[in-house]
Amino acid sequence: HIRVGVLALQGGFHEHLALLHQAAQRLKSTDFSFIQVRTSDQLATCDALIIPGGESTTISLIAAQTDLLEKLRDFVKVQKKPTWGTCAGFILLSQRANATKKGGQELIGGLDVCVHRNHFGRQIESFEADLDLPFIPSPTDGERRPFRGVFIRAPVVEEVLEGGVEVLATLENRVDRMRAGQSQAQTTGGSGDIIAARQGNVLGMSFHPELTQDARIHEWWLSEVVARG
Ligand code: GLN
Repeated sequence: HIRVGVLALQGGFHEHLALLHQAAQRLKSTDFSFIQVRTSDQLATCDALIIPGGESTTISLIAAQTDLLEKLRDFVKVQKKPTWGTCAGFILLSQRANATKKGGQELIGGLDVCVHRNHFGRQIESFEADLDLPFIPSPTDGERRPFRGVFIRAPVVEEVLEGGVEVLATLENRVDRMRAGQSQAQTTGGSGDIIAARQGNVLGMSFHPELTQDARIHEWWLSEVVARG
């Protein structure tokens, strides 16, 4: 049995939980349970964890105030349990985040990358793009469908700090040029921008799979969690 937690301090945790349930159904598995994590006791019962998108400064502040931050570091870096962060979660799992005007925030770390927060600019520069993500397995019946990438004040990897970091996708995996609003993102976002990376047990993505109805990444990640034992 595998118990997966979703960090529920702030951000899109409900959305992640809904997709986890959908993914488990698609995998035809009842071998999972999913819980919201707000305390270190809850974290201690988990075999794997998702850190949702939201606001990384807020998540980090609440975690620090509730003594969860050290426990999260231990979970990710000492116990090396599978942990997946989306957007703000990706920032928190990075070793470094570039400083912002208001100053930095405390990070959990685990992924030896430096991320650039709000890489594409402000809220109004948020955009959606169809992505062909190589790690999503091709269906046995029918065609490969793109995955809708929702980028909201998204970070990208500015620098890979370690050889062990695997780049899973860049904006070269973008298969469309659709824009949600008028924005600079197309010009400021180079096609080489890293939007998904993994190092051992730690996985980060710039966009928000939890803001789609598409459970394919959750399904893939759950099978990776199972494979890691
Ligand atoms: N830019 C936000 C941050 O720094 C992340 C945005 C998001 O998760 N949608 O936390």
